[in-house]
Amino acid sequence: MGLRPNLLTRRTAGVATSTLALLLSTAAVGVVPAASAFSAAPAGVCAEPADAHADARVAKGGHAKLDPNHLTAKQVREREADLATAQRERANFRTGAVAPLATVTIPVVVHVIQENSTRAGGNIPDSLINQQISVLNQAYAGSTGGAATAFSFQLTKINRVTNASWYPIVQGSSAERSMKTSLRTGGKNTLNMYLGELSDGLLGWATFPKRTLDKMDGVVVLNESLPGGTATNYNQGDTGTHEIGHWLNLYHTFQGGCSGSGDSVSDTPAEASPAYECPTGRDTCSTAGKDPITNFMDYTYDSCMYQFTAGQASRMLTAWNAYRAA
Ligand SMILES: [Zn+2]
Repeated sequence: MGLRPNLLTRRTAGVATSTLALLLSTAAVGVVPAASAFSAAPAGVCAEPADAHADARVAKGGHAKLDPNHLTAKQVREREADLATAQRERANFRTGAVAPLATVTIPVVVHVIQENSTRAGGNIPDSLINQQISVLNQAYAGSTGGAATAFSFQLTKINRVTNASWYPIVQGSSAERSMKTSLRTGGKNTLNMYLGELSDGLLGWATFPKRTLDKMDGVVVLNESLPGGTATNYNQGDTGTHEIGHWLNLYHTFQGGCSGSGDSVSDTPAEASPAYECPTGRDTCSTAGKDPITNFMDYTYDSCMYQFTAGQASRMLTAWNAYRAA
């Protein structure tokens, strides 16, 4: 597939002086912005994540309760310590015999969860799935304007499953566990992507890497968020890009807010809270740099996000070699 028609939009959206960026800003006028899920939430409203190895993406207007897996500072510390342990284990295991990988092709198995054979019932055509793979390959190659990462994606199977009891896919439910336990395939290097209607208005959620293979491992993505889907403002495939970022060990750019180590990546400026729509020029922390609203790991519209940073690319490859490489 060629370049997406929106490529120019993506590259231009982050430039404050561009006409297009102004148009994007203007387009938001007249829409009553829904309260940010985080800034408007009274202290203590955010539910503790049930599983520190998962994370979600929330559409504009989502409530705090709809991001069930945003990590606490303690959970981030635990994950960072676990990464260090995993690296040590790998270093000992390799004893110099197996070099860490520099490029990685990830086999992708897509499970299309359907209630019935209609589009509304989850029957997403193969063409959208193929376009999703193209979007992933462009995003992770850096060809939409960001840093190139080590990763490319190869679709190995589309597995269509009609099961009304798994539809919609409900985050954290026993049905989700049953679905993944039944369907997950491949080793730690295999990306299992589950498509369907999702609970609570979520766009998607993902598991972070773990040292032992877990049947829950994978990403869940709203079917209509695929390129050309019906999820307005979120239908260019970047929910998939974002969730796979988590699967490769990235946090949100707003992780940790303005203080501390933030998202544990040095070249993503700190950000106090998630950014929605495309708020060009947003700058919520006194530390250097404007908010990384064009980063795939924020919450902005698909048309607004187009890049990973070199630091994120490095973090993902480090995590791959620690957790997912054979
Ligand atoms: Zn997320």
